Amino acid sequence: AYNFNAGPAALPLDVLQKVQGQFVEFENSGMSLMEMSHRGAIYEKVHFETESLLRELLSIPEGYKVLFLQGGASTQFAMIPMNLLRPGATASFVATGSWATKAIQEAKLFGETAIAASSESDSYKRIPSIGELNYAPDSAYLHITSNETIEGTQWSEFPDTGNVPLIGDMSSDILCRPIDVSKFAVIYAGAQKNLGPSGVTIVIIREELVAKPSTTVPTMLRYDTHAKNDSLYNTPPTFAIYMMGEVLKWIKSNGGAAGMEAINREKAALLYDTIDGSNGFYKGFAELGSRSLMNVTFTMQSKELEAQFIKESEAQGFVGLKGHRSVGGLRASIYNAVPLESVRALADFMRDFQNRNAQ
Ligand code: PLP
Repeated sequence: AYNFNAGPAALPLDVLQKVQGQFVEFENSGMSLMEMSHRGAIYEKVHFETESLLRELLSIPEGYKVLFLQGGASTQFAMIPMNLLRPGATASFVATGSWATKAIQEAKLFGETAIAASSESDSYKRIPSIGELNYAPDSAYLHITSNETIEGTQWSEFPDTGNVPLIGDMSSDILCRPIDVSKFAVIYAGAQKNLGPSGVTIVIIREELVAKPSTTVPTMLRYDTHAKNDSLYNTPPTFAIYMMGEVLKWIKSNGGAAGMEAINREKAALLYDTIDGSNGFYKGFAELGSRSLMNVTFTMQSKELEAQFIKESEAQGFVGLKGHRSVGGLRASIYNAVPLESVRALADFMRDFQNRNAQ
């Protein structure tokens, strides 16, 4: 199948095949990794190797903790204010689309929020420019969503926020390109798009922010619990972490973050060029300067034509091209593991479909 699912998403075939070979018996140990104690030497090696690969590939500077948590990025929407929003303080957000909105709604359960910039009046077709950001200098933090998975928009550069900790939800674009981690106080991401299967969520957090929260927070929802215990306070999702490690090895062998960016730019250009060269048959949803490298969103003249596109594309082996119900249209998610050949096949299909259906 040509897998364009938005998440859980495609995994590298090489990784799936390698893991298949180790599924029943892990490295001559007589049992599956899934059956092993998370306190044993074999699993611990996998755990810490995965962490160090993530540190290497993202060039994480000294002074950050890397945590492997559960509950998805959605749990981070709550954990962040529970741990980092002191009573009386305000958390600032950039409202860029569906996922930023969910983060804002959740933070409101815990304290004051403010909107530093919003593109809601433009139907979230763009990322506000850095110059538009307006937040109080005493904000507890500024939260951004580096890639809006549903609308198909992505930040191309990140603000320097000085003393205000910058927090980034990178669930749908982590490791799609090199980034300067030092600009961020916290980066978080569910693994199931660019890093591995669902079940593990990564949190990269500046050590100075890992402290006992000022209010009562359940033990499992405190960053200091997990940081003190190297993400081994309770049973971690061992298999998901192992798989993430294998995906990270694959990323490393394909040129790391810079290698991913080069191929991701090539893949995205194939689709955006097809859209832009279609004389309006396909219309890109996101504004030009805000287009995502990961989620290519577009519409067609009518819902009927879009439905026909989905039906015919499915018959030819394309999976997951229907746009999210809140935006409609079509969406091709082209995360790191989606091969260039799949994207070429989709661009060919799009041109062929246009030739057969344009009036
Ligand atoms: N943030 C973004 C940008 C996402 O794309 C998603 C899921 O698609 C989430 C958060 C929620 O992630 P999870 O399903 O891991 O809770």
